[in-house]
Amino acid sequence: METTFVMIKPDAVSRGLENEILRRIEASGLRVVEKRKLRLSREQAGRLYESHRGKDFFEKLINFTTSGEVEVMKVVGENAIRRMRELIGPTDPVKAPKGTIRGDYGTSGTENAIHAADSPESAERELSIFF
Ligand code: GDP
Repeated sequence: METTFVMIKPDAVSRGLENEILRRIEASGLRVVEKRKLRLSREQAGRLYESHRGKDFFEKLINFTTSGEVEVMKVVGENAIRRMRELIGPTDPVKAPKGTIRGDYGTSGTENAIHAADSPESAERELSIFF
């Protein structure tokens, strides 16, 4: 069993997509074992996206992720990290196939509906920020 970190971003929360996204995660056989809705502080957003500090899209990313409520969650299952990444699709919604969460609900390079950790190290680090 593996545990990963997932966050529904403010664009998706403000459009009322949380339940549909949670349904897709559970329907895939993964389990959401903890979840919490909150508004990220700039400090929390900065920690979450630490590896992007200094990149040209960093400020925009922090402004966006702190712009409204998000839902953070702990997701458990066999190969949960890889399976969540498959469910969400590629970073850029334009390149994300229909049927993936970003393909269906992402609207721009920044506003791509959802985050999921991309490695065991990231999952552990990101979970420790919120749980
Ligand atoms: P992810 O793991 O698929 O979310 O991708 P990354 O870790 O590379 O990027 C983190 C987040 O930063 C993405 O989900 C986007 O919201 C944003 N982002 C990444 N690359 C770009 C980019 O080239 N342009 C813009 N505007 N945002 C980006």
